[in-house]
Amino acid sequence: MTYRDTERQYALEVFPKRDVTLVGGRGAEVWDDGGRRYIDCVAGIGVASVGHANPAVAEALAAQARTLVACPGIFYNDARARLLEKLASIAPPGLSRGFLCNSGAETIEAAIKFARLTTGRPGVISAMRGFHGRTLGALSATHKKQYREAFEPLVPGFSFVPFNNADRLRAAVGEDTAAVVIEPVQGEGGIRPATPEFLQAAREICDETGALLVFDEIQTGFCRTGRMFACEHHGVVPDILCLAKAIAGGVPMGAVMANDRIQLPPGKHGTTFGGNPLVCAAALAAIRFMEEERLAERAERLGERFRERCAPRLSPRVRELRQIGLMIGIDLRERCRPYIDALAEAGVLTLPAGPTVIRLLPPLVITGDQVDEVVEAVVGVLG
Ligand SMILES: *Cc1c(COP(=O)(O)O)cnc(C)c1O
Repeated sequence: MTYRDTERQYALEVFPKRDVTLVGGRGAEVWDDGGRRYIDCVAGIGVASVGHANPAVAEALAAQARTLVACPGIFYNDARARLLEKLASIAPPGLSRGFLCNSGAETIEAAIKFARLTTGRPGVISAMRGFHGRTLGALSATHKKQYREAFEPLVPGFSFVPFNNADRLRAAVGEDTAAVVIEPVQGEGGIRPATPEFLQAAREICDETGALLVFDEIQTGFCRTGRMFACEHHGVVPDILCLAKAIAGGVPMGAVMANDRIQLPPGKHGTTFGGNPLVCAAALAAIRFMEEERLAERAERLGERFRERCAPRLSPRVRELRQIGLMIGIDLRERCRPYIDALAEAGVLTLPAGPTVIRLLPPLVITGDQVDEVVEAVVGVLG
């Protein structure tokens, strides 16, 4: 039996599968069980920013695995202390305390609970087309009907406003609003950047009403958009910043960074694995690598290279190319799925972001030559 057959037999069918069995990777490349090589613009869904099999992360994992793997949050720990200090030093101003967990959705769950606890209010407002995760709280903040409807009733107190509509947000936020949760660039929703006006208005509305502003930078964080965090493009600082995906070089981790407004009595929230030394060591190595290799500048430069070389050669089938650093969406006038399959045939793995948008989230270590290869594949399929 092939690995594909084995998974088909034994896995619950949660995922719409692609007919590729990945068994290895290095940098921006992965290969399948037949030895076929791809340029990986999926990158574990925006996770492998420092590259697959990053030697610094591998070394940190191996060394920590030989030292201490399990250490729950009830004890202090060296690796965790160093990571928290590092996160506070790179986070936007004032976001000086962190809670460590294991995934993106868990950071949203924590943010919702922290906001309700801090404000004593129930309401959470998020944006249409937004995506915040699949657990019941995070799903309650996620707009997409197909993800929600089979699982209702969801958590009470959640409502939605159109993305980038400050007037509608102002009308929606009230005395019972605990938090406004926004992605600075919507990822799953189609690579759609928030306008600076919308983010600034959200900050003002929260300040006026006492609601907390939560930015979901699970996908945009850690250099993806050409800055360490996407909110730095516009200088708008949230009260709570949710981070995951690329944070630990591919190892599962989430982090909630919070300012002094967030006050938590001990014992109200918790996690068994969150902030364990193994993952903290990987995250420290990954973040050091991002800084030393200047991955934010690299993402900005290579994202522009992609757009400049690709955009003029695209056919009218393409409605719009949206690019912020190495977060790229190619919005088509038709369904994207056949083109995603054709790109895989051409040796480039990509993702959908909604029915018509091809999403590219390559490792930020991708080389200029590899970017050019991706351009040629995209133009070959959509030129
Ligand atoms: C991936 C993602 C999540 C959910 O993260 P998981 O680790 O899959 O739970 C939430 N918000 C955004 C913006 C994401 O991209």
